[in-house]
Amino acid sequence: MNGFLIDLDGTLYRGHEPIPYAAAFIQWLQQHELPYLLVTNNSSRTPEQVAEHLLELGIEVPATAVYTSSQAAAKYLTEQRVGNRVHMVGEAGLRIALEASGFAVEGTTPPDYVVQGIDRSFTYAKLTEAVRHLKAGATYVLTNPDRMLPSDGGLLPGAGSLAASITAASGVEPVVIGKPSPIIMAYAIERLGLPAADVWVIGDNVHTDIRGGVVSGCRTALVLTGVATADNVHEQLASAGVTPELVCDDLAHFIAQFTELGGL
Ligand SMILES: [Mg+2]
Repeated sequence: MNGFLIDLDGTLYRGHEPIPYAAAFIQWLQQHELPYLLVTNNSSRTPEQVAEHLLELGIEVPATAVYTSSQAAAKYLTEQRVGNRVHMVGEAGLRIALEASGFAVEGTTPPDYVVQGIDRSFTYAKLTEAVRHLKAGATYVLTNPDRMLPSDGGLLPGAGSLAASITAASGVEPVVIGKPSPIIMAYAIERLGLPAADVWVIGDNVHTDIRGGVVSGCRTALVLTGVATADNVHEQLASAGVTPELVCDDLAHFIAQFTELGGL
């Protein structure tokens, strides 16, 4: 039996537009009762919000089929057992995940951790506060390293760009949770309950999805519907230095190649 770890942005949708064959692909997984998780580096939304967004695009999945970098960050902190006081720089999805795991996010100084994700109201004051806590010895955890992220209006600075300023000022490098980190990959594989060698990682980003899959011992398929496209795929593969097992025009093409390989 194969399991699937599937990226969201650029793989199932682009902003508010579903990608062709995304809904059909999820139905194919569900019809064949193949275990899957939708794994996203985006820390701003809760799994419920992601599932609602997908439903608006005609893709029906339970919230339990969504795994976010915020959930993985909360699990990582739980395993570390350093303390439960967190200074958060981020949005609702991160706050909810941390609080659900028993971490005190509000008014806890000095914090054991600075946990940072995307924060679209990041300010100089927030930078200053985070840096002070890190200088005082808090552990720095970053939900995802993405420097830029796609949006309907073009690329926007991502959590990794905010992290670059925090690291520049504090001299502290974060523990990175999101793809391509083996941390989120290991948690996602554990949730599927399958050996890594039986898990396919499918995504549009060579640097995050494919690298994360390769370092975790999974099988990998790159779809040319997001960051990677038919026009830039050679350049993307050369710069990443990792090679996916399959390169697919879209998810329908993945099903065809998977079937040809003898899957199912
Ligand atoms: Mg993507």
